[in-house]
Amino acid sequence: MSKYKPTIGIEIHTQLATKSKMFCGCNNDSRGSKPNSNICPVCMALPGTLPVINKGAVEMAIKMAKGFNAKVANVTSFDRKNYFYPDSPKGYQITQMYEPIIQDGFVEILIDKEFKKIGIHHAHIEEDAGKLTHPDGADYSLVDYNRAGTPLVEIVSEPDINSPEEAKRYLQEIYNIVTALGVCNGDMEHGNFKFDLNVSVSDSEELGTRTELKNLNSFRNAERALKYEIQRQIDLLESGEKVKQETRGWNDAKSKTFSQRSKEEANDYRYFPEPDIPPLNLSNDFISEIQKEIDVLPSTIRKELLEIGLSVDDQDLLISQPKTAKIFQDAREILKKEKLIKKAVNWLVGDFQALGLDDRKDLTGKNLAELVKLIDDEEISSKIGKEIFAEVCGGEAPSKIIDDRGLVQVSDDTELEKIITEIIKNNPKPVEDYRSGSEKVLGFFVGQVMKETKGQANPSKVNELVVKLLKG
Ligand SMILES: [Zn+2]
Repeated sequence: MSKYKPTIGIEIHTQLATKSKMFCGCNNDSRGSKPNSNICPVCMALPGTLPVINKGAVEMAIKMAKGFNAKVANVTSFDRKNYFYPDSPKGYQITQMYEPIIQDGFVEILIDKEFKKIGIHHAHIEEDAGKLTHPDGADYSLVDYNRAGTPLVEIVSEPDINSPEEAKRYLQEIYNIVTALGVCNGDMEHGNFKFDLNVSVSDSEELGTRTELKNLNSFRNAERALKYEIQRQIDLLESGEKVKQETRGWNDAKSKTFSQRSKEEANDYRYFPEPDIPPLNLSNDFISEIQKEIDVLPSTIRKELLEIGLSVDDQDLLISQPKTAKIFQDAREILKKEKLIKKAVNWLVGDFQALGLDDRKDLTGKNLAELVKLIDDEEISSKIGKEIFAEVCGGEAPSKIIDDRGLVQVSDDTELEKIITEIIKNNPKPVEDYRSGSEKVLGFFVGQVMKETKGQANPSKVNELVVKLLKG
């Protein structure tokens, strides 16, 4: 164990899944649109225009607050962050510097089977900038303002994170929460969820000089970049050098961080209250009305899944699919017994995932619970269960499918004995082998019975009867 302790703080930019942009009526989804086709005088800040707050974005932030165990500010306000750069049509960004809408929260991450609290200092609403591209070899740059004015919530953690693994878990947890709440589409390839990582190392109580790793957009790269950067800082300190406060990028191909700009050149943004937007009053009634709409929080589901001993990967899988998590909860409500609930989860993390989204969209918790019970009661074999599962996911009740097709499991001794006797009669050689000590041929007989009954025989029953009859 190194004597240096890393300290990590994370800023996450989540793009809100609203219909329109933050302060105008432009479509909030420009994917596939021609550059500069999804803009208007408001998001271009033409003289005489006024921004109007998107109510949907505020409601989404209020939901997020609940997911982050945070307070919603009763009075929240917007500010201007002034900077001059061609990706900003306004010459400033509207953000929340002084009274952010979400304050003082936390999430819990699961590390070595224990929950660790990571504080959320605050989260604020702001608008995104446009996008610059620099064509290869050209002596000009191109700007596309379609993204300008897109609503973002920036989530600022406390520096409570102490390892790359914790950082990754924190990012995944926040991702789970915002996607489960439906406030972010989570499309990481299109920049719906980006983050900056602040990291320092120290061998004392005093924090070391930090560097900032900018614009990462994959959990895996965040972990790798942090591992690299922590080691780089330790190596510097060990060789008697100092860590420079700077912004660094991550080069994925070289698996290295590299210096982008030093903090001495940092801008003074001259923040001041946005004069065109009065402070927003949010009553407790309004807040609780919106938070009531939240079905169930990912953290609650995680605790339920942990209780039945599900692995972290499978927990993540279910939590990252809110509809699947809902099926789980409904089935759990009906099944009650842990043994059966586990079986329901096995379907959801197994066969269910193999089906296309469209093919599985009609599975209900009720039908899943029924399927689990039918198999557990030995009404049908698990083989038949697997065969009809796709239909169950298409919305059909398992009991109806097996009734319609006469798939009820054959457990009736006399009927099975008749079939087995017939098979024994027709296969003298394997019978001979078995009686002279080869246990292996048992599988052959069981297989024959299953074939004969088209998989509808109860396998344990068949086994028992085959042994009994072979021993004669
Ligand atoms: Zn606009």
